[in-house]
Amino acid sequence: MSETFLPELPQEMWRAGKLELAHGVLQSLRVIRVATAGLGRFLAEVESRGAKDLFGHGSTASWLAEMAGLSRGEAGVVVKRAIALNPTRNLDGTEAPAVAPETAAVAAEGLVGDERIDQILEILKRLPADTSVEDRAVAEKILADLAPNAGPHQLAKAEAKLLGWLDPDGNEPKEPEPKEPRRELTLERRRDGFWKLTGLLDDETGVRTAAALEAYAQPRPVDEFGQADLRMKCERLGDAWAELLDLAIACPDQPGTSGYRTLVHVTIGLNELKSGLGTACLDFVGTMTAREARLAACDCLMLPVVLSAAGEPLDVGRLRRFVTPGQRRALNIRDGGCAFPGCHRKPKNCHAHHIEHWVDGGPTDLRNLVLLCGFHHRLIHHGDWEVRMAADGLPEFIPPQYRDPLRHPRRNTLHHR
Ligand SMILES: [Zn+2]
Ligand SMILES: [Zn+2]
Repeated sequence: MSETFLPELPQEMWRAGKLELAHGVLQSLRVIRVATAGLGRFLAEVESRGAKDLFGHGSTASWLAEMAGLSRGEAGVVVKRAIALNPTRNLDGTEAPAVAPETAAVAAEGLVGDERIDQILEILKRLPADTSVEDRAVAEKILADLAPNAGPHQLAKAEAKLLGWLDPDGNEPKEPEPKEPRRELTLERRRDGFWKLTGLLDDETGVRTAAALEAYAQPRPVDEFGQADLRMKCERLGDAWAELLDLAIACPDQPGTSGYRTLVHVTIGLNELKSGLGTACLDFVGTMTAREARLAACDCLMLPVVLSAAGEPLDVGRLRRFVTPGQRRALNIRDGGCAFPGCHRKPKNCHAHHIEHWVDGGPTDLRNLVLLCGFHHRLIHHGDWEVRMAADGLPEFIPPQYRDPLRHPRRNTLHHR
């Protein structure tokens, strides 16, 4: 086993040569992984003796959660991995062997990280139920030997080979009824207010999901000021997800709701909604800034419940603020898509933005509405661009001074030639 001490930080990081940087990264990773393996052994021992007897906690995971400032779910993952890698003892003192001892051995040397460990554990779960103990051990050894030098794809390939070896006629249905495809999705609100989405999809749904997201995750073209789309791939996919939701919710056949975009309520005081200062309450889960609420209320992406200073719900603009299907059709024809200069987005990906917000008395009619895609809608609400209706009844956009000192109004010429 080679050295696993912490790398020395260079006195001046910016002077470090590239070899020194690479070595520092590898060495840090290795130390982390060795320490993680050690942590697992401690946790397995706590599990064997019982967190209840030792610390008065219902489970090792709940004890770890409290010790480490983790959620129950986060701690559960760590403990589950520790138990899979390390032998534990049952209540009657009999030994419960590790599920993946060979993987544990390479993990203890710091040669493999949690991601590949979890992948191996998942693969072992998917081996045919009638695989003998010996064959299981062989399969685990093959995966563990591979793991230090393999990425996710190589392990996945190894899994396919193993399955071919263990279950040569695996394609033949064993049951007369074909199985339902396996799909799982979990959505969990974290304490920091972000939501964590994880899931497992069958091949077909996975490919369709990827295609649907990809279609909306393309980088925005460089705009006329030379500004490129700097979002990371994962951020573009996240934005694509939000757009797909808008589409699904706007679909008239949506089950379980009375129609257009009325799934989520945001409760906000009239003053907060007018000023964009303060906070608003988002359905049952928490708060959002009043600025975000003002944006969400603009095209009723969320259904606003506006409260008076005394806390009573107000009727403010209840009838005026909804864009009728007829108005929306007219708007789609007039603007042809996102009206922001240079934007390609089609009408179905657009919100109807109130130029003067309805809460400030702006009417919901064509002279006060403009189509904007999600991105440009946010930009108009939160950024320094302005939109106004020109004398000819078409919207025009005024760039911020730092983009154009003379602030010449601009229009989108892409949708109408
Ligand atoms: Zn708006
Ligand atoms: Zn746009």
